[in-house]
Amino acid sequence: MTPVTCFAGRRVALFGLGGSGLATAHALVRGGCSVVSWDDGEKGRAAAAADGLVVEDLSIAAWDGFDALILSPGVPLTHPAPHWTVEKAKAAGVEIIGDIELFCRERTAIAPGAPFVAITGTNGKSTTTALIAHLLREAGRDVQLGGNIGTAILSLEPPSADRVHVVECSSFQIDLAPSLAPTVGVLINVTPDHLDRHGTMANYAGIKERLVAAADRAVIGVDDEHCRAIAERRAAAGGALVRVSVETELPTGLVREGTALVRTCDGTRRPAADTAGIGSLRGVHNAQNAAMAIAAVSALGVDEATLRKGLASFPGLAHRMESVGRIGRALVVNDSKATNADATEKALASFPGGLHWIVGGVAKEGGIAPLAPYFDRIERAYLIGKSSDAFAATLDGRVPCERSETLERALEDAAVAAQGSPAAEPVVLLSPACASYDQFPNFEVRGDMFRRLATGRPDFVPLRKD
Ligand code: ADP
Repeated sequence: MTPVTCFAGRRVALFGLGGSGLATAHALVRGGCSVVSWDDGEKGRAAAAADGLVVEDLSIAAWDGFDALILSPGVPLTHPAPHWTVEKAKAAGVEIIGDIELFCRERTAIAPGAPFVAITGTNGKSTTTALIAHLLREAGRDVQLGGNIGTAILSLEPPSADRVHVVECSSFQIDLAPSLAPTVGVLINVTPDHLDRHGTMANYAGIKERLVAAADRAVIGVDDEHCRAIAERRAAAGGALVRVSVETELPTGLVREGTALVRTCDGTRRPAADTAGIGSLRGVHNAQNAAMAIAAVSALGVDEATLRKGLASFPGLAHRMESVGRIGRALVVNDSKATNADATEKALASFPGGLHWIVGGVAKEGGIAPLAPYFDRIERAYLIGKSSDAFAATLDGRVPCERSETLERALEDAAVAAQGSPAAEPVVLLSPACASYDQFPNFEVRGDMFRRLATGRPDFVPLRKD
């Protein structure tokens, strides 16, 4: 835990008692702060009370007695409407901040300049964050990994000069962290998302920009217009910057040539690494994540040989194009995290063909129609869940499909059919392009079940670990 000492002897209101809210409350209390906590839900309040925290109704509290409102990132700050605690704090002139801000202040107080890598972007945050942490660990560094991925930031060990914090930041967390100024700031991409919570694209991109604007060194993916503009402003301000592109050539930066990632500098070219044959980094989207990670760890002094070795041993994250093993001739891939067509597009684009695609659940608007350019890579589709009628209609006459209904049946159908595939390496791919809640509590349970079903078969063969 990182005790937050910068609020010692002061009193704060804390709203939102999920996992990170509870961790934040404890870190403040441990640092000597008096915390009054609350949540709109009974479950969070009960958890806090059971933990020995002070739980009091903030709607009837005297707000002028608070030095800050510590807000959970899941609670609306601005859109669609400010939460009632935000209105109360503003009326009383109380600052509103989150756990990342508390970490930043603590770092400034106890270990200024302690290495701190912050990562954001619309897509690829968790993969890039996990890969950066993995590469730094391969280089023998003491690494703390957390934030929006896994462990709450204040549950990590405190910052120190010889310990690197690698922290994934959502836009909501950045919005609550006015003094965020990492050693290395990584911005992967900005595409429309969460506009219900950020109002406009300009506001959303502006929040993401803050993570790199104040960084000592910035790594920016310049394959979308928002990030290109952000990089331009960073360059104009004279800040250290590495531009990364997997789509176009850059005179100076990190670019992709097939599966190779190449450093360019005023026209000279130097290979950095190659993602060929690395199952956890399949696809152009993962080449982008890998390139961002390479630039970030290079800024912290990781050498090229360690970097290449580390990329090759990256295990990847569960449920994101996770190679589970083989059933007979077929590679089995769990991409349960793909809950919309955009994410599934990345999976379909990563394989040249031979796909036996398990798809369906609760469809998003537009369904799987946007995936039509990839239909010729699919040998057969296996429909599960509520979306079966709609998806059968979209695939009709274009992709042979079966109504498997359940995941169990779908895996059985796909595993059998894939053995007769004309492809050199057929793939049984779960990439549902749908939410899971018609048949599962969440995408993790869906993916875990898929993995269990595959690994439990007598014809299952684990992947070779070199
Ligand atoms: P995040 O943490 O931002 O949600 P993840 O690393 O967990 O991102 O990846 C989630 C999904 O997003 C992946 O399964 C893939 O479909 C897609 N994705 C990953 N990286 C990228 C990227 N760089 N660009 C676009 N999409 C990506």
